[in-house]
Amino acid sequence: MKNKYIILLLGALALLIAGMPISHAHEPAQEKDPVNLTPDAQTQLIYNKIHKASGLEFKRPLYVQVDPDYNAWASLFSVTITTGGLNLIGQYPDLYKHQVAYIFGHELGHVLHKHLMSSASPLFNNKISRNNERQADWEGIRIMVDAGFDCHKAVKFEYIFAREYSGFQGPDGTHPDSLERAKSIEHYCNVYTTTGVMPAIIGVEK
Ligand SMILES: [Zn+2]
Repeated sequence: MKNKYIILLLGALALLIAGMPISHAHEPAQEKDPVNLTPDAQTQLIYNKIHKASGLEFKRPLYVQVDPDYNAWASLFSVTITTGGLNLIGQYPDLYKHQVAYIFGHELGHVLHKHLMSSASPLFNNKISRNNERQADWEGIRIMVDAGFDCHKAVKFEYIFAREYSGFQGPDGTHPDSLERAKSIEHYCNVYTTTGVMPAIIGVEK
């Protein structure tokens, strides 16, 4: 019996050592632990306003991840935007706060519509993913307008992004085509700011 425990103990030690991160000089950047920065005051303030307008009770903390990619995501415990995302939007100072507000609204839209749960389902596929993105885009416009931001400026950024930065998202992609997304939010923005009523979501795949 005693030997059995020693073998178990050695096994556990071996696992512990194997699980420890070992740094390699040539390790690609994406395999390292992500570095999260505290958001600057303006970005945090935008997030605070968007969170309030979302109506969500639990306030996930906001992180800014050091990553050159243009990206943002929501998890069960946080909302994250990349430095690459903020830097790209920062090239358009007059659009900055509105586009960042739209992105946060979009991410909290995923949370509101429980997309995190649906993406964990074994039935989840790219069509469901694209429809989830359409719903988050729709909610993102609603939230940012309710929070007092200018959705026309987010629409302007999304057109710039679609034309200058985004690669074409094919029919099997996880996100709808960027130009389609820009046109959809332009419609939501125009209708909501002129009538005060959100129109139906457009482009949903059956
Ligand atoms: Zn999304």
